[in-house]
Amino acid sequence: MKKNKTKLEKERLEIIGNMPCYACYQDGREVNAEVHHIRKHTGMGLRPSHFDTIPLCYEHHRTGKISVHLGKKAFVKRYGTEQEILEKVNREIEKCKEENQVIF
Ligand SMILES: [Zn+2]
Ligand SMILES: [Zn+2]
Repeated sequence: MKKNKTKLEKERLEIIGNMPCYACYQDGREVNAEVHHIRKHTGMGLRPSHFDTIPLCYEHHRTGKISVHLGKKAFVKRYGTEQEILEKVNREIEKCKEENQVIF
C-alpha cells in the first residue's frame, strides 16, 4: 500500500469523510461518518477503488448489528445495497459540487 493517492482520490475521500452517515441520515439523524470502501466481486486481487466509497458512521460501518462489515444482510435489507448507496452518494456529490456544499 505504498502508492500515493492522486489529487482526485484525496478530494473524493475528503468529501466522503465530511458527509454525514448515509444510514443514519435515512433515519433522520446526522452523524459523523468514516469512509467505507466497497469491494466489488469482479476478480481476485482487485483493490477497492477510492472512488467506490460511501460515508458510514462507525456503528453502521463496522461495530453495529446493522453494519456493512458485521451485519451486511440486515444492513442491505434496511438501507439498500452498497452499489445503490454509492449511486445515490455520487449523485449527491455531483449536485453539491454545483451548489458548492456537501449535504445529502
Ligand atoms: Zn450511521
Ligand atoms: Zn469498510
